[in-house]
Amino acid sequence: MNQPKLGTQEPLGRRRLLAGAGAALLVAAVDGCSVGVLGAKRRAASAAPLQLAPLRAGIDRITQITVCTRPFRAQGPRLDVEQIGQKIIVHNYGHGGSGWSLSWGSSGIAVHKAMATGEREIAVIGCGALGLTSGLLLLRAGARVTLYAKDLPPNVRSSLATGLWTPDSRICFEDQATPAFKQLWASMARQSFQTYQTLLGLPGNPVEFIDNYFVSDDPNTLRRQSPTDTRPKFADLQRELIADLIPRREDFGPGSHPFNEHYLRRSTLMMFNIPAYARLLMEDFLANGGKIEIAEFHTPADFVKLREKVLINATGYGARALFGDESIVPVRGQLARTIPQPEMNYGLFYKGVSFVPRRDGLVFQVVGDDDYYGFNDDTAVPDRVEAELAVNTITGLYKPA
Ligand SMILES: Cc1cc2nc3c(=O)[nH]c(=O)nc-3n(C[C@H](O)[C@H](O)[C@H](O)COP(=O)(O)OP(=O)(O)OC[C@H]3O[C@@H](n4cnc5c(N)ncnc54)[C@H](O)[C@@H]3O)c2cc1C
Repeated sequence: MNQPKLGTQEPLGRRRLLAGAGAALLVAAVDGCSVGVLGAKRRAASAAPLQLAPLRAGIDRITQITVCTRPFRAQGPRLDVEQIGQKIIVHNYGHGGSGWSLSWGSSGIAVHKAMATGEREIAVIGCGALGLTSGLLLLRAGARVTLYAKDLPPNVRSSLATGLWTPDSRICFEDQATPAFKQLWASMARQSFQTYQTLLGLPGNPVEFIDNYFVSDDPNTLRRQSPTDTRPKFADLQRELIADLIPRREDFGPGSHPFNEHYLRRSTLMMFNIPAYARLLMEDFLANGGKIEIAEFHTPADFVKLREKVLINATGYGARALFGDESIVPVRGQLARTIPQPEMNYGLFYKGVSFVPRRDGLVFQVVGDDDYYGFNDDTAVPDRVEAELAVNTITGLYKPA
């Protein structure tokens, strides 16, 4: 397949656009995510060169290496309702690499189902992205809510995510994305996107927009599954279903930016500063009358001890053990964080490594050549060599040619 060349202005036909979408364009491939585009703008030759703040990072400035598993399900998140004994369980788990991104929309669906039972005292199991948004939306719908979880932020998997709006990152396999699923996904993505707009410009910047640059040595390089790879493809939904939410990209050829002979493609992305954002969600939940109890459940039979009859199950990867749901596949991801640099306001992607300028620390991550990187790997041991590779790959861009 011919890929559009960086720096050309050729309009993309729909077929090529979708083919390009299949390429999981890595412009923003921070969580192995694809970011949809409507073709890139070429910069006018007369435009002033791009000015970018120099990065202050190095392996000596690594402050933390964290590892986490994305809860991937081939068929997408589980949102059905199940009766177990006297309890009605509304499931809300299995969001792959899109849990933060889809949280408001997905939890809105779960809350609607829980409220439809007529009960007004509702439990949420789990205090990650999905549990917190479920809890808040239940309160807003008029329910009394207790959130039960064995761990709270920052000790939940959600706290170890990259922090970008990547709503179709490892959300399901392409062959499982039925028309009904696509419709559901688009409504979750749109609902979440709109809710995130209400969280911009707040103290501590829980949510903000950043520019992100995909850097390549070759104008034709795109990150995608090789055509000879027979494994199922991950669904790539953004450009097909929510293209109107995606700003146009812009291309920068050699000489028009600070990175020597490289080719750059700029996109604009929404970023979550996860510590500030999780804290905001917790504070809002408690300030609105929500209650939190620390509790661990070993089997669904343990729910009998809860006074609530209706529960939203937002246990994420924990649902694999709790509900014996082996459709959840772990996808390992590791972040290396370095000391924060407040003036850094742009992200980078280069040679299978992403860099995200979060306020709580600069975040570096090897995301590999395609979305199978880390697939079916539940090892949680930090890998220092991988962390250093991530940092060195990005800092290497700033060395003189
Ligand atoms: C490296 C990496 C990068 C990522 N980047 C992004 C990104 O940029 N954007 C994005 O949208 N998504 C991203 N994700 C995906 C996102 O982090 C997940 O989809 C999301 O965190 C899932 O949230 P959750 O609330 O379902 O689960 P969790 O955060 O795992 O929360 C589960 C909660 O349930 C509780 N629990 C679990 N089991 C039990 C039990 N048996 N008893 C009691 N309590 C229990 C836990 O204590 C916790 O409170 C990334 C993931 C990884 C690993």
